[in-house]
Amino acid sequence: MPELVSQMWICSRSARAVFLLSVLALLVTVNSYALGNKNQASGHSLESSIQSVTSSSPSQVISSTDSEEIERLCEKMRASVKSLKWDVEPCPPDIEWKIGGQSVEGQPLVHAEIGNPHSKNTTLVFSMVHGDEVTPLYLGLELLQWVRMNRDTLGDFRLIVAPLINPDSFFKKPRSRVNSRGVDVNRNFPTRDWNERALKAWKVRFHSNPRRFPGKEADSEPETRYQRELIALAKPIKILSVHAPLNFMDYDGPSQLSLARFPKDYVQECLKLRKSLKATSGGFFPGSLGNYAGQELGIPTLTLELPSADPTKARGYWEQFRPGIRTMIEYQMPEVALRAITDRMTSTQWRENTIH
Ligand SMILES: [Zn+2]
Repeated sequence: MPELVSQMWICSRSARAVFLLSVLALLVTVNSYALGNKNQASGHSLESSIQSVTSSSPSQVISSTDSEEIERLCEKMRASVKSLKWDVEPCPPDIEWKIGGQSVEGQPLVHAEIGNPHSKNTTLVFSMVHGDEVTPLYLGLELLQWVRMNRDTLGDFRLIVAPLINPDSFFKKPRSRVNSRGVDVNRNFPTRDWNERALKAWKVRFHSNPRRFPGKEADSEPETRYQRELIALAKPIKILSVHAPLNFMDYDGPSQLSLARFPKDYVQECLKLRKSLKATSGGFFPGSLGNYAGQELGIPTLTLELPSADPTKARGYWEQFRPGIRTMIEYQMPEVALRAITDRMTSTQWRENTIH
């Protein structure tokens, strides 16, 4: 495995340059030691999870390319990008935005796809889930631009990026973490433990902090439903959600990607690296994407928290994390893990809830 050998070499050379290569490492090395006991907290079958989380709310992903609506969004994004002093074009030629939902205030929720449409090596990227964390937007937009320009040099992949999950809160002044109804859309996913734990955790752990409000009921927010429906539609085998500014990296997902399947030295180096960067788990939250997609649907899900939301640092973060994100996009899941993930996706429950 020359690719892994070269990554192992890099791992032992420069911690900073391979921060996101350790993201890859997390994809393959997560075990109960590294993660605490999160996997043990979800001892239920995926099928029952899918059934329970989707039956109450049928998928409604539209796939519109309404050009006027998209142009209005592009204009707003251009103005915001300009005010943040970023040199990035949100709507370049050859990137076709598709509208997959509408925010609380009726703004389009968009994603774009690039790469081999028939590839099973699908990565789904979310950014700007929280409207006041601006640096992830830069990464989402730049990622699309960069992949567009470098497509021929990349391996087999299919990439779907939804760079602006929470447009209402991003466009308003002042910006806010929660959506227009005051809900944290990353605590609103209909995880199995939501009814029992979400509001309780909010009151006890977060002292009813309004910035963390999970909603009055699960799956109530269009920005959450859009992410959920995009997962059902795209069937990714890897998910990356980019946030700021907590400076951590979190993994949720199946334990099939275990230490035993990869060279021991590589794994150990990357675990050490993870420790040295203090890239520890961000915790376990009812209603979070990691809990929903990683723990319950079994899709390897990474939450990357950039070190800050300072817009002047966005370009630096992109440069820093680009090699790791590239590795993640190109990374071919080991056959055994791919089979486990795709078997779940072809289950009756998953099929019934997928939009065509
Ligand atoms: Zn966030």
